[in-house]
Amino acid sequence: MPQQAANEQSIKEYVAREQGTDIRTLRHIRVLKRSIDARQRTIYVNLKVRIYINEDPDDEAFARVIYNNVKKRPAVVVVGAGPGGLFAALRLIELGLRPIVVERGKDVHERKKDLSLITKIQKVDAESNYCFGEGGAGAYSDGKLYTRSKKRGSTEKILNVFCQHGASTAILSDAHPHIGTDKLPRVIENMRNTILASGGEVHFQTKMTGLLLHDCRVEGIEAVELVSGRQVEFRGPVILATGHSARDVYRYLFASGIEIEAKALAMGVRLEHPAMLIDQIQYHNRNGRGNWLPAAEYSFVTQVEGRGVYSFCMCPGGFVIPAATGPQQIVVNGMSPANRGTQWSNSGMVVEIHPEDVEGDSPLRMMDYQERLEHDCWQQGNMKQTAPAQRMADFVNNRLSYDLPRSSYAPGLISSPLHFWMPSYIVSRLQQGFKNFGRMSHGFLTNEAVLIATETRTSSPVRIIRDNDTLQHITVQGLFPCGEGAGYAGGIVSTGIDGERCADMCHQYLMNA
Ligand SMILES: Cc1cc2nc3c(=O)[nH]c(=O)nc-3n(C[C@H](O)[C@H](O)[C@H](O)COP(=O)(O)OP(=O)(O)OC[C@H]3O[C@@H](n4cnc5c(N)ncnc54)[C@H](O)[C@@H]3O)c2cc1C
Repeated sequence: MPQQAANEQSIKEYVAREQGTDIRTLRHIRVLKRSIDARQRTIYVNLKVRIYINEDPDDEAFARVIYNNVKKRPAVVVVGAGPGGLFAALRLIELGLRPIVVERGKDVHERKKDLSLITKIQKVDAESNYCFGEGGAGAYSDGKLYTRSKKRGSTEKILNVFCQHGASTAILSDAHPHIGTDKLPRVIENMRNTILASGGEVHFQTKMTGLLLHDCRVEGIEAVELVSGRQVEFRGPVILATGHSARDVYRYLFASGIEIEAKALAMGVRLEHPAMLIDQIQYHNRNGRGNWLPAAEYSFVTQVEGRGVYSFCMCPGGFVIPAATGPQQIVVNGMSPANRGTQWSNSGMVVEIHPEDVEGDSPLRMMDYQERLEHDCWQQGNMKQTAPAQRMADFVNNRLSYDLPRSSYAPGLISSPLHFWMPSYIVSRLQQGFKNFGRMSHGFLTNEAVLIATETRTSSPVRIIRDNDTLQHITVQGLFPCGEGAGYAGGIVSTGIDGERCADMCHQYLMNA
């Protein structure tokens, strides 16, 4: 039962009783797997534990990586200090190479001040925001660490590296591991300290402006130091981990004739319910989650008119946040603290859009579509970060909302007929999707919930085409497009795995040179 699984002492008491063992002999308990079974009215917490009778564990709860000094070793330029770049840099050190990390944004602490200005004075800094800066989009993300990746070993490695840098070891056992937005910055700072202590370099507020190309081979990057305006160069093969929001990078690649292609992605809105309501529905209990269960999650998917409509990045007990990367746009996303304790539960509700659904043949057309929608949203939101919003049932019934419920979205909401001005391609599918979800889960489709526009950055709108085996760009040698921005990963863990793979391939490239 949830109460028995709540802490180490109650688990010990349960085990001692079940095993007929004296509790005083149970020196230590290690939880190996934890999941919640909420399918029936009675909720169970399933635990797999290892018990230590009259002995202590002789190993750490996680596998530790040794990072040797690489100060005198060959350099590799890593552009972007998001999860892709950071995991690539750490892996390079493991392989005996020296990462030079170049990041346009500020370190996690300085960055926080710019995030608060978005709410306070509605100012979005184009170099330091929820997507740009140390830790990338991962730093102030929700920190959910589950992935659809089937590579178990690689997933465990990423989780272990997080633990080594300060994340709770609970992420190794939870079925749905989560670090929490309040804990992530410290973990990321520790990762940077490992890079520096091992002889790597990290350059903040330094933006890549171009690649140093010679005969279809990359020899490094050109960059600008944003504070001084000084032009600089960094030499070495390049792991390009600039994320899905670096539109200037995509434009540069396109203008330079470096092959990229349009990629499918999903766009829509953020949907916010009172957390209590989601708890009541998911735990089948009018009193909600009680004292021992976490804020409830949900996951929905359906097909409408040949395209997927689904919930994305659900944040139980969380906040909706302003995640734009430039001044004249509104982009929303979600996050939650480690305790998932707010009064709201939110999730992206998005519709799949394929390149053939958008007019034109430019590789940048999905990005242009995304950018237009974000700009329209900003115009509808009074040209501020105040987000256009509509109650859920009103949206489904094509009705303007006369008022809006309280929301976690700090810059504020403005009532707006989303059904009218958002692309009909998205609106009709979302409306039908919500009806389907309402049938699957009684009470879910309700005017107590609010739609907040617009969720557009679910994955990359562009793929930087690379060779499947070498992970190098298909025509440019020494260039390793990496992570979410390259279009080959999505989410923190799969991006971390991709970062490590790019580092491995870069190592092989240097060994063969
Ligand atoms: C609010 C929010 C919540 C999220 N929640 C989750 C979650 O719970 N779980 C999950 O798995 N994923 C989540 N994500 C997604 C996750 O953060 C991304 O999948 C992940 O960060 C992608 O990593 P990346 O390294 O490929 O790119 P990014 O994290 O985007 O990092 C790219 C970095 O490159 C830098 N950069 C860009 N251009 C340049 C340039 N020209 N020169 C130098 N540097 C440059 C950027 O400043 C940035 O720091 C969330 C994202 C957001 C925004």
